[in-house]
Parts: sequence; structure tokens; C-alpha cells
Amino acid sequence: MNEQFVLEMKERLEKELSQIIKDLSGFAKQDPKATRADFVSKFPEYGDDEDENAGEVATYSNNLALEDKLEKEVRDIKNAIDRIEKSAYGVCKYCETDITEDRLRARPTSTSCVACKKTLTQEL
Ligand SMILES: [Zn+2]
Repeated sequence: MNEQFVLEMKERLEKELSQIIKDLSGFAKQDPKATRADFVSKFPEYGDDEDENAGEVATYSNNLALEDKLEKEVRDIKNAIDRIEKSAYGVCKYCETDITEDRLRARPTSTSCVACKKTLTQEL
């Protein structure tokens, strides 16, 4: 892998990571007991009317789904940064060839090359 390119991707991943953590902090709070970035959605407080209660539940379940999605992105990004630090970034985990820069630019957290991804999706 081109060192300059890897540095560029690392910068992008770190930027993305802090943005996601910021988004998560807007509606969830970080669980102090968790060792990795794990967040717990706050239960919103609108009021005690039935309408308000229903609204709270709806918002809460939306937040849970979003929290789940964002936490998964946090994990993917942290894994990618981890691979950069171990000089294993951009290598397909199936066939161990370099993933193309185009693919990594489109999706910096990619762990498989286009050919392997294709085979995998066809198998599903
Ligand atoms: Zn591959």
C-alpha cells in the first residue's frame, strides 16, 4: 500500500470517527463501564400525556436503531485504524491481495477486494 494514501485514509477515518461519536453523544451517553465505544440511548422526556408517552417510545426506538448503526460504524472504523497501525490496511482478508485505492476511497473500511466481495454476495 502507498504510504501517502494510507495516511490520507487514516485522516479520513479519524475525522469520520469523531463525527459519529459527536452524533451519538447527541442522543446517547457513553457507557462508562464499556471498554469500547459503547453508547446507551437516553430515554426522551416529553411529558406524561398518552401522546407524549407514545412519542417518547417512538423516538427511543428510532434512537436505538440509529445507535446500533452508528456503533457498528464506530467498530468498523476502529478496526480499520487498527489495521493501519498494524500495516495490514487495504489487504483483502480472504485472498490477501491489495484492495484497489478506488474501492478504499469509496469505502475506507473495506476489508475485502471486489472479486472476493462478488463471490461472497453471489453465494448468499
Ligand atoms: Zn480478495
